[in-house]
Parts: sequence; structure tokens; C-alpha cells
Amino acid sequence: MIVRVKRQAAPAAAPRWEEFALPWRPAMNVIICLRDIAERPMTRAGHSTTLVSYESNCLEEVCGSCAMVINGRARMACTALVDSLEQPVRLEPLKKFPVVRDLIVDRSFLFDSLKRVKAWVPIDGTYDLGQGPRMSAQAQEKAYPLSRCISCGNCLEVCPQVNQHSQFVGAAILSQVRLFNMHPTGAMHARERLEAVLGPGGVADCANSQNCVQVCPKQIPLTESIAEVNRQALRQAVFGWLLG
Ligand code: SF4
Repeated sequence: MIVRVKRQAAPAAAPRWEEFALPWRPAMNVIICLRDIAERPMTRAGHSTTLVSYESNCLEEVCGSCAMVINGRARMACTALVDSLEQPVRLEPLKKFPVVRDLIVDRSFLFDSLKRVKAWVPIDGTYDLGQGPRMSAQAQEKAYPLSRCISCGNCLEVCPQVNQHSQFVGAAILSQVRLFNMHPTGAMHARERLEAVLGPGGVADCANSQNCVQVCPKQIPLTESIAEVNRQALRQAVFGWLLG
């Protein structure tokens, strides 16, 4: 089978394509292809080359690190089975993040945005704080799908509003705002989160293209989250001064 990889030796280097011929095996995924290339880094034309750099860890769509563009579509390499892909299989790094090397990108923008909206449940210390507030089974059921985000960045990759001219934080971040505002303890920072998404690059920048929800590997209801955060942010903007 034939795999074409977009290579880039360094952030400022010019990209180039390299083609590899690999022996097919049943149930191969894209990560296995990349491992095969690492075992024998030789192009299809017979030139020896450097190892292809890529990130992967869990191999079960949980860590989010192996997101890349496969045959033009943002997806996880660990669950991309070769038999379901058109050949030659084309591998490119995500385009909305700076390339570090080959298929590795720097997703700091995503992680900095999570910090910006305080996407966590605050604790006072590491000592025993006793039982936390209880959540109903219904509330847990609503929150659980949102908690499955793996920060892969696929939703940012396909969003036309995420580009070099905009600061839009993207669907994943807005969905985390909804998740942590829903949590009884996380709600203590709801106001700060909403102030953050009322600012530049916030929820008002969403143009409702709805691409995000189609590529999310965890089937997170992203458009629902954006609509809910938009409602909360508007309420905050209009009645925030009353709520104190
Ligand atoms: Fe990936 Fe979905 Fe999270 Fe976006 S919302 S970062 S696509 S898991």
C-alpha cells in the first residue's frame, strides 16, 4: 500500500511530500503505517530518509494526540483503518496550528484558551475537603458527553472562523465552558468564564457553520453547547450588573 506524507523538517522549513510503499496487513491503522515507516525509513523511490515525526499515545481515541489530516479530513490516526481509506493515503499535519515537525503541531492555542476560560473545577487545597456537592443522575448524564473532549483540535481545524485573522477560541473551548458552568463547584467561576467568552474571540465569533460537530471523534453535541453558552453569555451581558 502507498502512503504519502507531508514532511516539514522545522517550523520555518518548506514542506515537501514523500511517498512510501508498505506491506499491507489486516486491520492496519495509520499509526501502524507510521511505525512501519519508522522501522525502515526508505521512500518508495528507494532513497533513505529521516523518521517521520508524529504524536500518539493511547491508541484508543482517548489521548487526542494523533489528530492529523488524513485524505483531506481531520481525524484521529489511531482509529483510521487503512482498509477504509482511499489510496494513496495522504497524511498532513493539522493546518490551523503551527507545525513543529512533520505531523506534529503546536496546540498551545487550544490549551491557552482552556486556561483563559478556567476550564477546571477549583479546589482549595489537597487536604480532605469532605464530600463535594451532589449532582443528580440527570445532570451527570448531560455533563458526561461534554467531559469526553480529548482536546484533539479537529473541531478547530474545520472551523472557518478559526484562522490567522481571528482569535476565535473554537467549539471545544465553548463546550468546556458549558461543562464547567454546569458543575455545582465549577459554577463558582461561571461569571469569569462568561466574561472571557464575551470578549474578543468569544462566542459571538461563531458563524454557525456546524462543521465542528461533524468531525468530533467523541460525538460531543458542540452546536448545542455553543447555543447554550451563547444564551448564558447574553444573560450575563444584559443582567450581569444585576447579578453582582
Ligand atoms: Fe476534539 Fe471533539 Fe474536543 Fe473538538 S470537541 S477538541 S473535536 S474531542
